[in-house]
Amino acid sequence: MSAQIIDGKAFSASVRDKVATHVARLKDEHGLTPGLAVVLVGEDPASQVYVRNKGKQTIAVGMHSIEHKLAADTSEADLLALIDQLNQDPAIHGILVQLPLPDHLNEDLVINAIDPAKDVDGFHISNVGLLGTGQKPMVPCTPLGCLMMLRDHHGSLSGLDAVVIGRSNIVGKPMAQLLLGDSCTVTIAHSRTKDLADVVRRADIVVAAVGRAQMVPGDWIKPGATVIDVGINRISAPDKGEGKTRLVGDVDFASASAVAGAITPVPGGVGPMTIACLLANTVTACCRAHGLAEPEGLTA
Ligand code: NDP
Repeated sequence: MSAQIIDGKAFSASVRDKVATHVARLKDEHGLTPGLAVVLVGEDPASQVYVRNKGKQTIAVGMHSIEHKLAADTSEADLLALIDQLNQDPAIHGILVQLPLPDHLNEDLVINAIDPAKDVDGFHISNVGLLGTGQKPMVPCTPLGCLMMLRDHHGSLSGLDAVVIGRSNIVGKPMAQLLLGDSCTVTIAHSRTKDLADVVRRADIVVAAVGRAQMVPGDWIKPGATVIDVGINRISAPDKGEGKTRLVGDVDFASASAVAGAITPVPGGVGPMTIACLLANTVTACCRAHGLAEPEGLTA
């Protein structure tokens, strides 16, 4: 069997189209423009690329985009003052502080200073609590993207056995909560899990969020299962030339795609969904702030 490839590039484009349609409606019918502020502290090159892409895509869907680039030695007090100012700004509906922050800044303190209603990354402790209790949170973008792809592929996820490999606060745990919310029977696996292969073999849905290149081989996958590969790992690729590298997931795509029913590739699977879901969350935050109906298909 050869798995259906879940095309994250195409799917994320359809999410951005829905966002753009909703943004246009908010402008026409309510005179509202959703606004996203991204705060970057320091000069980490990967973070700079992400922030640039976020800004471009925010503008492309018709939203208001602000970037605050702060020096690496910015004090915690100055960063908190900026967040407070953005919390008060009615033109800003979403605030994202790009992580990781420099070591002298307390990430938990900074994230929890964001107004939870504007916390479009879904990392504020209030949003974690709302997600855990099945209320209306802002949902972390990467797991939201995975959920959207799974719903699109399966329709209903009710009753399916799901294994999430990884228990981080930004991917594994919220992913498991979302799958539970959609009535999957959920197992969370991690570095101490005994006989991971056996656990994975029982799953109709496998979400791999570990950060270890190609660690899940095809013979761990139940025939016909859906595999969502969140991992992004750079490995050397001597076949491309000396010193060259390539991106791979946590799943061994070649062997897994011969067994799975559907699978996300790396790159081009989960990756593009994250920014699309950030835009979706910003529209949702704008609608909630103004007591308007939330965009259909863009929330959990
Ligand atoms: P973390 O490092 O925070 O968490 C990794 C998790 O994997 C931990 O819970 C760890 O277990 C578990 N783990 C480590 N080794 C094993 C093992 N041998 N067997 C089973 N579980 C193991 O990573 P993140 O959740 O932040 O990210 C995971 C991956 O997803 C990374 O490759 C990252 O780059 C990628 N990612 C991609 C995004 C995107 O597509 N946009 C966004 C975010 C992340 P334990 O808790 O026991 O240590």
